[in-house]
Amino acid sequence: TVGVVGLDKNGKIVAATSTSGLFMKRPGRIGDSPLSGSGFYADSEIGAASATGVGEDIMKGCISYEIVRLMEEGLHPQDAAEKAVNKLNKKLISKRGKAKDISVVCMNNKGQWGVATNISKFSFVVATETEKPTVYIASFNE
Ligand code: ASP
Repeated sequence: TVGVVGLDKNGKIVAATSTSGLFMKRPGRIGDSPLSGSGFYADSEIGAASATGVGEDIMKGCISYEIVRLMEEGLHPQDAAEKAVNKLNKKLISKRGKAKDISVVCMNNKGQWGVATNISKFSFVVATETEKPTVYIASFNE
């Protein structure tokens, strides 16, 4: 998945996903990417989030909605992203002994951003009015 969250100068927030789905997926499978709340979620009054990884696990946490909800409660996007990923990761491990890949990017309506993952290396790009597109790498932060 290529996932994006963006904030324009008028304060409008967007989230987007584009994916080919999982390799060797069954015909007709619908992953998380087209599902509002799971693959993406945006509310200009709060913020937006976008997810990538294994849709079957991402959907179990409605993780993009959960991150925006946590930002609404006042969490910084970084804390919201980590809290949502870690909670879902723990839940999946306790229920069936493992969690598949889950990574998220998010931003609030002030332009503060966050990223979290349960894999060892997740690369993402940040671009702002003052920062040229820059590649960063996030890692699992339990
Ligand atoms: N999340 C996508 C899906 O499960 C796959 C991906 O992120 O590459 O369909």
